[in-house]
Order: sequence, then C-alpha cells, then structure tokens
Amino acid sequence: MASITIDGVTKRYANGVVAVDDLSLAIEDGEFVVLVGPSGCGKTTTLRMVAGLEEVSSGTIRFGDRVVNDLSPKERDVAMVFQNYALYPHMTVEENIGFALKLAKVPSGERERRVREAAHVLGLEPLLDRKPSQLSGGQRQRVAMGRAIVREPNVFLMDEPLSNLDAKLRVQMRAEVLRIQRRIGVAALYVTHDQVEAMTMGDRVAVLHRGQLQQYADPQTLYQRPANLFVAGFIGSPAMNLFQGSLVRDDGVALMLGSQRIGLDERFLAAHPAIAAHVGGAVIVGVRPDALGRFGSVGEPNSLAATVELVEELGNEQLVHVRVDATPYRLEVDEEDLEPAAGLVGGGAEAIARIDADQSVKSGQQ
Ligand code: ATP
Repeated sequence: MASITIDGVTKRYANGVVAVDDLSLAIEDGEFVVLVGPSGCGKTTTLRMVAGLEEVSSGTIRFGDRVVNDLSPKERDVAMVFQNYALYPHMTVEENIGFALKLAKVPSGERERRVREAAHVLGLEPLLDRKPSQLSGGQRQRVAMGRAIVREPNVFLMDEPLSNLDAKLRVQMRAEVLRIQRRIGVAALYVTHDQVEAMTMGDRVAVLHRGQLQQYADPQTLYQRPANLFVAGFIGSPAMNLFQGSLVRDDGVALMLGSQRIGLDERFLAAHPAIAAHVGGAVIVGVRPDALGRFGSVGEPNSLAATVELVEELGNEQLVHVRVDATPYRLEVDEEDLEPAAGLVGGGAEAIARIDADQSVKSGQQ
C-alpha cells in the first residue's frame, strides 16, 4: 500500500500534443481521488502514466517514497479497471478472478483463498460458477473489479469503469466501488468526465482542463469556492449562471447587470474585501441556479427583471429558464416560489427573479 505523488509531470506525445502539462497531485494512502474534466483534457494519459503504460516526458511519479518512473506496470503492482472490461467468456467467475494469480504461479490453495476473499468483498460468492454471459452488467463489472483487487495491489486505478452501465446501476455501483476501495484501503485514482460522479465519489477531486490542473480540493470547496471560471462553470448541475457586470459607486455601492441595478450593503463589502477591491471595475458574478430563485412582481428592490421562457418539472422542484436582457439563465425554484411566475411562460411577460446580493456576489466573483 502506498501514497501516489505526481510531481511536475508533463506528457508530450510524438505528434507534439502536450496532453498533460506540469501536473502535480498527491494522493494519500487510502484516499479516493477523482480526476475529472472534459474530453481530451488528459485524464486517461495521466492514469496511464501512473500505471506505467505510458512514459512521462518530464517529472516524477512516486509510490510512497519510491520513484516508479522506470518501473514496468508489473513492477509497480497497480490494479486497473477500464471502461471496456473484457472478461474471458469461456471461464467461470472464479476462473476469471483467479486468472492473474494462476499466471503468476500462485499455489492453488493460496489462489483459492484470495479469490474467495475478493468474491466475499464484492458479494460474488453465489455467482462463482457462472459464466460472464449469465451475469448482469453490474455483476460483470464487479468481476472486473475482482480481477483487479485479487492481486492485492499497491494502488487502484480506474478509468470510467461505470460508463457502460445504465443510469440506475451506475448510481448503485458508485457506492459499491467506494465500499470496495475502503475495504481494501489503498490509494485510488478514478477517472471520469462526469462531474456528478466526481463530486459524489471523491474524497478530493482534481479538475483538469487542457492538460493543466485547475483546482484540487474536496467536493464542497470546489462547489463553494471554485478557483476560476472554468471550475465554476464545470462543477454543478445545472451549471452556475455567469453574469457579466460591474461594481459601481453611486448613492451606495451597486452591482450593475446590463441596465439593472442591485444595491450592495456596505457591511457585506466590508466582510468581502476581495469584492470591495473591484468597486469601479468589471466583474463576473456567478450564481448557482438554486441561489437565485424567488419570483415577485416587477419593481421589487434587489431584483432582476427577467422573461420566463420555459419551466421544466424536475419532480420536487422546477428548473426555470429565463432571459435577463439578452442572456439566458437557469433557476431552480420550489413550487411556492414559482407561483407568481405561473402563467407567464410563453407569454413573454416579465417576471422578477429576486437576487440575494449576499449569495450572488460571493459565489463566483473573479
Ligand atoms: P476522454 O475523456 O475523451 O477519454 P481524456 O481526458 O482521457 O479524454 P486523453 O486521452 O488523456 O484525454 O488525451 C489528451 C490529449 O492527448 C488529447 O488531445 C488526445 O487527442 C491526445 N492524445 C492521446 N493519446 C495520444 C497519442 N497516443 N498520441 C498523440 N496524441 C494523443
């Protein structure tokens, strides 16, 4: 068992593409870290470098205190689970899980013990005699995990292991993958492009964009205090609304969004010196859809006039699509807060979305 340290690692492919650019990331022993970002941001390349399947162009990778740059995947003793986990169709579950141990010439008694133990952890004991074709997608996924963990690896690496499963099973398997990782207790690095998966699974989440680390933090910090606009827009579903505006001093201090004015309390500014520093300048204001969400009548103070375009029913709440001046925004509101807007949809009539100055400016000011 070991921690993983990625120190100033860059990967430049032969065609000149810099897939990973000076990445530094430390994963503690026993920690579950998720690498998340849009397609092509360098997630898989990072994982493959940790596994030893891809050479680093520069930088150092360590497991514990040991530099592993020049070690083969086998010497690194990593377990990997990929998106396309091919099980051997002619082998039983037991044989599939034990195959790597057989290749490694582990004696049969020891092999059986370790396969049984992995099957126990994964809840696969009743299925040991089945062939892959007789299993559900989730069960097959667990066999693939079994094959990986039976080797009692130093570190556990997963590349989109749940993306072939249907939505419901994926949610169940998230919890299961975490439970297994906690049980075997090794450092895990998990790649996904799905920010919801990242936020629900990671002890810490590393957000990558164009090969560069944008922020590395626990999910709450990423959500509440995004380090930059990319993270602010990427983390959260539905995505954060981003308003272009300016902070002006007139009779008091106000946030101007287009022609609309929202007064800011002096005490609020005193408590947020980073925001106060921008009075007189342009700002981008980030507002989570659930932080902007009460409809009133036109003319209320500290409110934005908006045109309601569409209301989507989400079950326990509604997602309301509005336009403020020409810019579209999305708001999540409860039934009772939506009432004044009912009947406005499609009619193009104006509603007022109240904006709470305290919440709005602090969530994404740049
Ligand atoms: P996805 O979510 O789509 O799998 P990713 O974040 O895992 O993407 P990578 O597969 O690591 O991204 O790719 C990062 C960048 O490196 C991309 O621009 C990709 O086109 C490029 N790339 C990946 N593999 C190679 C290769 N073998 N040779 C050249 N360029 C490559």
